[in-house]
Amino acid sequence: MCGIIGYVGHNLCIPKIIHGLENLEYRGYDSAGIAYVLNNKTKIIKEKGKISNLKKLLDFDTTTNLGIAHTRWATHGEANKINAHPHSLGKFTIVHNGIIENYSKLKQELENNGYVFKSETDTEVACALLDEIYKQEKDILKALNKVTKIFRGSYAFGIICSDDPNAIYALRCTSPLIVANSPDGNFIASDVPAILKYTNKYILLDDFDIAKLTKDNIIIYDEFLHETKKKVNTFSGTFESAAKNGYEHFMLKEIHEQDKVFKDTINFYFDGTIESLKKNFSFLKKYNKIDIVACGSAYHTGLVGKSLIENYVNIPVNVEVASEYRYKRCFYDYNTLVILVSQSGETADTLAALRKAKNDGITTMAIVNVVGSSIAREADHVIYIKAGCEIAVATTKAYLAQLAIFSLLTIYLGYQNKTISENELNIILDDLKKMPKLINDTIKNNSYFDIADKIYKNKQIFFIGRGIDYAISMEGSLKLKEISYINSVAYQAGELKHGTISLITKNTPVIAIATDTKLIEKTISNIKETKARGAYVIYVSNEEPSEKFYDELIKIHKVHPILQSILTIVPLQLLAYKVAKNNGCDIDQPRNLAKSVTVE
Ligand code: GLU
Repeated sequence: MCGIIGYVGHNLCIPKIIHGLENLEYRGYDSAGIAYVLNNKTKIIKEKGKISNLKKLLDFDTTTNLGIAHTRWATHGEANKINAHPHSLGKFTIVHNGIIENYSKLKQELENNGYVFKSETDTEVACALLDEIYKQEKDILKALNKVTKIFRGSYAFGIICSDDPNAIYALRCTSPLIVANSPDGNFIASDVPAILKYTNKYILLDDFDIAKLTKDNIIIYDEFLHETKKKVNTFSGTFESAAKNGYEHFMLKEIHEQDKVFKDTINFYFDGTIESLKKNFSFLKKYNKIDIVACGSAYHTGLVGKSLIENYVNIPVNVEVASEYRYKRCFYDYNTLVILVSQSGETADTLAALRKAKNDGITTMAIVNVVGSSIAREADHVIYIKAGCEIAVATTKAYLAQLAIFSLLTIYLGYQNKTISENELNIILDDLKKMPKLINDTIKNNSYFDIADKIYKNKQIFFIGRGIDYAISMEGSLKLKEISYINSVAYQAGELKHGTISLITKNTPVIAIATDTKLIEKTISNIKETKARGAYVIYVSNEEPSEKFYDELIKIHKVHPILQSILTIVPLQLLAYKVAKNNGCDIDQPRNLAKSVTVE
């Protein structure tokens, strides 16, 4: 979370920095700020709220060619102007992504030494410590290196020191940071979209690397302060992929890209032959126990993955939220595989879970979207989804692509383990070919918007389902609450009566998912229990019911169960979108959220 950018070069820096910062706004939008050097003096301008508020305060023609900027997702201190970055104390001005966990103790010591703090942030403490250490070391690089031994937590810093006003320094531990050289100057940034207009070549900094950027040069030092050469990566996407292309919101655009994303993701690993799956996934066959670890929507894909793998491969799968997994006792055995799922590949808790498993000598496999991200680099095996740039904070296409990977893994493992017969395999592969068209047809069905128009004023909306349909319910419910702010809970259909049914009153919307043939009758009984209490039932199924126990029907195409969830989620995404739109919500940048959760 938090977006950082810095530029030093031959051009005016404010237009470049603000353009880049706007492409990082998905990472946080509580406040924004910039520091630039003019006549050897550092000037800071910052404002509460989105970057558009900051822009009103800036003169884009200011003759400065060095600056750093930040868009914040507040962790320490209210989302106000005082806590906005950049922060400055003594000779240092910094922007920060991450959390300095021991900041409270450091703050006391620094206050005793005479530092006075204006903000509530951990970042200002980092700035003061850097200043204090620099006074002792009298060398910027040594001071930067020394603070890494004192800070606990995660950080990516962009730094200006008034003793060296022609340079930007950068330093990272766990939080992501790239540096890039373009024909007219050098950049630091949290992520590639920030610099894509200027260059598609970039270097990923490793933990404790320090970068020094001047207008003609980038020098990178390792943790022993030796100059080091790093691999230059090339980003293969285009800048256009970060534009709305006529859609009202990025979320809507991204929902409409899902047929292509599915095709791209599947085709990358599967050319129609089982041999191609063998080639790509043969490393998987020796595991007999799987832990799937992820956060948010990626956790929900893990739940779908569990259902598929347990049912079709006969391997026990444990799915855990990464923030819990990283601190719990794990009962690995020699044949355990840990699968980490993260769109950005930078999710702090998922990265920590990966490191924990690796420390314990367990093989890890990552399913990520962003090539070269920390999780992708550190996992033993990586499976990339091919979702392209996802800008809307609420994930849709990356979620669907993660489901596609779990389907593919299940097909491969099931076939390999002989729990999927040759005959069943052919049925699945037939459906697999039809999926892009079916996804597209499901997106194009506009009946969901009419249903959204009927329920959007409700204060709470329930989702119910059994088995794999419960896993999908959880994602449908999360999508709805994150963008519409309507209180929504997903329940196992059979569990509702053990307490939560007390919340169902006349016209409470209950969205019931029932696609698993063996469980449909059971789910229908649970739906009737809610109906008897006045619920307004929206029934989502791949089978035409023989009786009318619902108020609205969303009928989806029936495909093999290994692929079904990929179709089921689409109406739920569009329903959430329209409910949020009707409520006038900020769909692409919902309140309090940010994409790429790089803090614990
Ligand atoms: N901890 C810093 C703050 O609260 C940065 C937060 C972040 O990177 O999300 O301002």
